Amino acid sequence: MSEQETAEGLRAFFNAMRDNFSTILAQGAGDPRLIDVLAAQAGDNYEKNAEIQSEGLPSPACCKGCDTCCCLQVAATAPEVFHAAHFIRLTAQAFAAHGVDLAKRLEQARESFIGKDQDKRFFSRTACPLIIGGACAIYAARPLACRGHVSFDVQACIAAAEGRDVEVPASQAHKTVRALVQNALQASLREAGLGWGAYEFLMALDRALQDPKCEENWRRGGDVFADLQLGLADSGELAATFDALKMG
Ligand code: SF4
Ligand code: SF4
Repeated sequence: MSEQETAEGLRAFFNAMRDNFSTILAQGAGDPRLIDVLAAQAGDNYEKNAEIQSEGLPSPACCKGCDTCCCLQVAATAPEVFHAAHFIRLTAQAFAAHGVDLAKRLEQARESFIGKDQDKRFFSRTACPLIIGGACAIYAARPLACRGHVSFDVQACIAAAEGRDVEVPASQAHKTVRALVQNALQASLREAGLGWGAYEFLMALDRALQDPKCEENWRRGGDVFADLQLGLADSGELAATFDALKMG
């Protein structure tokens, strides 16, 4: 396949996903299930296409229970944040039976994340407060960024986490699919006049859990996580790319 055909295929894939998200947004306005439908669609798009794009590659080393990389900063869209908040509220009783309060853990961890960029976060080895017993407590509702961070060698991940100078063999296929799905979702949110940034996940999630009006305000068009936006400097360029992709 030529480079032009590959680019054309990616553009068509992106536009199809964006249109699909836009349809869900238009049909689901006012529906309390909108967030979970959007997040489920995004997760499904990611899982199916990552599988197709990684055909013939070695099997990923990642599995439920591997948490070495769970000290990286995670960028998530508002629907991903609210979906995780729904999951935490829904499972709160079950976790409480084991003495675990995820909302409280996030609240207590808040201070340790303020002002830390990706490098500082990683090298301080501050673990995600959603790890319980070595596993992600919101695995089914984890954001696309967590799903799309895929390595072929767990020993390399461990060595990198220990500060050794090693190259982690990450899957470009998973990373690309993750970026396409997340960007298509962002493009549809932007067209719908909703906050469309990629935000620092844990602090946004903490806010969504603490403020009962947070989701409602976002659905009314408020950019409720504006101060938590990551890559703010690139957002103009990203918006221009979304427009160019739509025009073809
Ligand atoms: S990226 Fe590395 S540390 Fe993270 S889940 Fe995969 S193998 Fe484990
Ligand atoms: S949300 Fe889950 S997968 Fe993502 S960093 Fe936290 S523990 Fe790891």
